[in-house]
Amino acid sequence: MIFIYSYLLVLGLVLGSFYNVVGLRVPEGQSIVRPRSHCPTCKRTLTALDLVPVLSFVFLKGACRGCGSKISPFYPIMELATGLLFMLAFYQFGLTGELLVALTLISLLVIIFVSDMKYMIIPDKVLLFFLPLFFLERLFIPLNPWWDPLVGAFFGFGLLLLIAVISKGGMGGGDIKLFFVIGLALGFSQTLLTFLMATFLGAVFGVGGMMLGKHKRKELIPFGPFIAVGALLSYFYGEDIIGWYFSMFM
Ligand SMILES: [Zn+2]
Repeated sequence: MIFIYSYLLVLGLVLGSFYNVVGLRVPEGQSIVRPRSHCPTCKRTLTALDLVPVLSFVFLKGACRGCGSKISPFYPIMELATGLLFMLAFYQFGLTGELLVALTLISLLVIIFVSDMKYMIIPDKVLLFFLPLFFLERLFIPLNPWWDPLVGAFFGFGLLLLIAVISKGGMGGGDIKLFFVIGLALGFSQTLLTFLMATFLGAVFGVGGMMLGKHKRKELIPFGPFIAVGALLSYFYGEDIIGWYFSMFM
């Protein structure tokens, strides 16, 4: 058990570091393997010592070894989040087929979180990579009923498209397509819950940010990070959340 948890933590940290690179480079049309990562300030190529997930950041005190400029804690946080979510996936599902779906979902959402935070873009390339993966996974690791993923996908896509039309562009094309992919992984009810949670979180943070003067009313904030958090909450805790809601208000 401890071995599996440690393995998943390390795997999550390493992959999380890779997902940072994917999320940062794919929207820019850059290769994800070349060139090697470098400091954005002094352009020094990062060596193995700089690239140990989380630990490098801690030991280098969040500064570049070449020029001493600050490194954003966003990247080690995403690495740590990936590692912890991988552990949570095993805690929830054990060594089952669903663990594979969970790890795939976490991977997609971490990349989307990074690229949408950084550029307000949800890259088609990323969605097109994960779409067939979820399709295959749901073929062999089905939901009940087996067609639930298809309902989830078309419902999620349709709902977001409808909102985009009504709000005249308040919802990006990337968000709409992302909901198709999430729907395929989650099925109908969790996709609906994802939407509700994402809008709720978006509203809370949007209004909170406005009150703190962090962003202005007209300024766009990326919706992808809220979708990612909403999808993970729905996927891991959907039944608990729905049960709690009904026991509170019904
Ligand atoms: Zn530097």
